[in-house]
Amino acid sequence: MPKIVVVGAGVAGLTTALLLSRDKSNKVTIVARHMPGDYDIEYTSPWAGANVLPMSDAPGSRWERETWPELQRLASEVPEAGIHFQKAMVLRRPKKPVTGDKPGSLSDALFADDPWFRDLMPDFRDLPADEVLEGYSSASEFTSVCINTALYLPWLVGQCRANGVILRRAVLPHIADAAAYANLQVQPDGATAQATGLDHKDTIIINCTGLLACRLGGVMDSAVQPARGQIVVIRDELSPMLTSDNVGDIYGEAPQTEIFYNMTRAGGGGTVIGGTYQLGNWDSQPDLNTAARLLSRMAATHPTLRAAGKTAADLDVIRHGVGLRPYRSGGVRLESEQIDLKEGSGKVWVVHNYGHSGWGYQGSYGCSNRVVELVAEIVGK
Ligand code: FAD
Repeated sequence: MPKIVVVGAGVAGLTTALLLSRDKSNKVTIVARHMPGDYDIEYTSPWAGANVLPMSDAPGSRWERETWPELQRLASEVPEAGIHFQKAMVLRRPKKPVTGDKPGSLSDALFADDPWFRDLMPDFRDLPADEVLEGYSSASEFTSVCINTALYLPWLVGQCRANGVILRRAVLPHIADAAAYANLQVQPDGATAQATGLDHKDTIIINCTGLLACRLGGVMDSAVQPARGQIVVIRDELSPMLTSDNVGDIYGEAPQTEIFYNMTRAGGGGTVIGGTYQLGNWDSQPDLNTAARLLSRMAATHPTLRAAGKTAADLDVIRHGVGLRPYRSGGVRLESEQIDLKEGSGKVWVVHNYGHSGWGYQGSYGCSNRVVELVAEIVGK
């Protein structure tokens, strides 16, 4: 029986553990420094909106293509997962000087004039000129979802526990340290304890450490850095979800490396107003001047707020926040390798699944499917 230790309890770790635990021949344990319920600058998943706005290019779209049907199913059939349908409107700027992996940019593919995902996302349509919002040159609309991460992450934990996954809190200095948790057993009183006999022949470690992959011993991935996202959460409900990037000049400001979006979370989760995309910036504290810009742009643009005559001062702020997207130059790392066990007693397989930047939710099931394939390849060797 493969003994699988997933390191990380963000959306990547929990989704991966969920899919692996559906195979009853796997014994799955999650070990993490942060768990759902925590809010910490080094734990990205709770800070996300999160919605689905495809960001990959067509050749790299497998992760998003495979995830959308499952998120659609959860929104339709599983209300307790905290996901609901929302209309999304992608706004294209008149000028596109800075796109791609640059500060202030989400993705070239999202803002393409003829995006590949017009065949994936339901009700896709290009808006006629008279429906395009002021300041923008063109726009497209489709049905998407918004995930209330405060409901969805605990729901994933519950699904994992229902499948027998053991969850344990620990800080691992080195990825190989995860092997020590492969033999955990649940005791009759609910506590976990080491089973006797540490045999790592069938142990597989899954590395879902997100941003902290840049600091984890045995990984130390220097391609990983934060793409800082500042947000404001308000009580007002807004529809549709608008998105644009590099928006400073549209609002008569100096060219800004900032993005522009709103999404109303399911189940009374409030509306997230964003945001920033600041590469290499680790600052955990919200900047109130930035927050004021985010709110006033939204009040000046969103049809719901304009119709109600609301200004930025009228918006009912719940909280300010900052999350760090786990950006990785070269894209997500999804591959397996063998590494030395620390005690010098042979090697252990590690499957990496980290570096999802701003699309960790919308690619979660596709990437986790790939981990399941990689684990099957290892077990079959
Ligand atoms: P994390 O959530 O950071 O989890 C990492 C886990 O690894 C944690 O449990 C941590 O404790 C653990 N860990 C790390 N190192 C160690 C160690 N040494 N020992 C033990 N445990 C360790 N994505 C979307 O799809 N749609 C969106 O709309 C969206 N909006 C976003 C908005 C903002 C403002 C931000 C910041 C992000 C957004 N994202 C969105 C991106 C998404 O949030 C991330 O891609 C995703 O959360 C990354 O998840 P993860 O599990 O890889 O990392």
